[in-house]
Amino acid sequence: MVMLSPPTDALTDGHGRRIDYLRLSVTDRCDLRCRYCMAEDMTFLPRSAVLSIEEMGDLAARFVARGIRRIRLTGGEPLVRRGIDTLAMRLGALIGHGLDELTLTTNAMRLADHAPMLADAGVRRINVSLDTLDAAAFRNITRVGDLAIALRGIEAARAAGLAVKINMVALTGLNEDQLLPMLDYCAANSFDLTLIETMPLGEVAEDRSDHYIPLHQFIAPLRAARNIFPIDKRTGGPARYFAVEDSPVTLGLITPLSDNFCATCNRIRLTVEGRIYMCLGQDDHIDLRAALRDGGDVDGLIDAALAGKPRAHDFHIERKSRPAVARHMSATGG
Ligand code: SAM
Ligand code: SF4
Repeated sequence: MVMLSPPTDALTDGHGRRIDYLRLSVTDRCDLRCRYCMAEDMTFLPRSAVLSIEEMGDLAARFVARGIRRIRLTGGEPLVRRGIDTLAMRLGALIGHGLDELTLTTNAMRLADHAPMLADAGVRRINVSLDTLDAAAFRNITRVGDLAIALRGIEAARAAGLAVKINMVALTGLNEDQLLPMLDYCAANSFDLTLIETMPLGEVAEDRSDHYIPLHQFIAPLRAARNIFPIDKRTGGPARYFAVEDSPVTLGLITPLSDNFCATCNRIRLTVEGRIYMCLGQDDHIDLRAALRDGGDVDGLIDAALAGKPRAHDFHIERKSRPAVARHMSATGG
């Protein structure tokens, strides 16, 4: 295990943006097959291409030593990765030693088993992807998922003391009727809710534009029923936040297509292959795996990645157009 000294310098990209947030994709595998994310017959990376848990821990610690203050574990589904408990414990031990926060994004299918471990590791809040509260629609969107298992996982997280934010992808024809029920569910459980537009990442064996809906359209029924007000909450991330009349829920909107959010981007992504992707919506990357395994200049490569971080993504979602990038969200780490 590589031991590293406390942070020395802040990471800043070539456009002057301070980079202090790392999304760490711990696997490209998943136990669901959400229609907007993956094809049903996805091919996953061979195990030889994938970083070990120890290598991931070493790289993450190196990023913390370079000024990363927040890490989110993601995937694929992070809780299907064997050794995720070891990694969470190792990264959790960095909290207060350079790292401010360790979080996780999950589909909740295995959360009932892992929630206490996550809390022990120092995780205080998690994002859970839940696009509908209708069991048949949940099965349809995820192709294989069981809503009851996800809801039990979320309940276990709450019982373990983890704050939960629900992420809901807006999908016309699949979950348009679910916004008000989801808002009520979140209010009843003291969860926040963030809505996300579908992004054109990776082939999914159907035309994503069939289900794309801009968020201003998706939330029109909510606006008709209740007032919503912009609030001055900032997380350095892509969401804009709103208060909803008569509801305790903070509503986040992520609109990569209808309203570009790149100017304040504070993050980079490290894949399970050891590649740094500077932008979710571009193909440019720098490979750290060989340098890590051969004792190369990992810090020099991190600097090169930062210098090359693009100003903005390049998403379009015209009908039948090819995805903006061939890589799936599950490979880069959503
Ligand atoms: N499996 C975990 C989950 O679903 O929460 C973590 C990884 S998943 C790739 C992270 C987030 O990306 C989820 O909230 C998911 O809904 C979202 N996502 C996946 N593909 C997307 C796409 N093409 N457009 C928009 N959001 C997407
Ligand atoms: Fe799996 Fe998350 Fe992609 Fe759904 S969105 S297929 S749960 S990685």
